[in-house]
Amino acid sequence: MDFDDWLAFEMCGGFGEDRDVVCPHCQTALSVHTDEPEGRESYTCQSCGGVFVVDWDTPAS
Ligand SMILES: [Zn+2]
Repeated sequence: MDFDDWLAFEMCGGFGEDRDVVCPHCQTALSVHTDEPEGRESYTCQSCGGVFVVDWDTPAS
């Protein structure tokens, strides 16, 4: 799926949602897409390339 298809999919009310997280390595605010915001998911920071895990069950402080 390329970006245009993804955009069309999103605008049609696709699954998942975007969440804002902060990279624990470089403190950069990132917008990540998750299909199911629960449990743990790992992401790669687009800024520093660091990998981190987001626990959706724990509210951001
Ligand atoms: Zn980072």
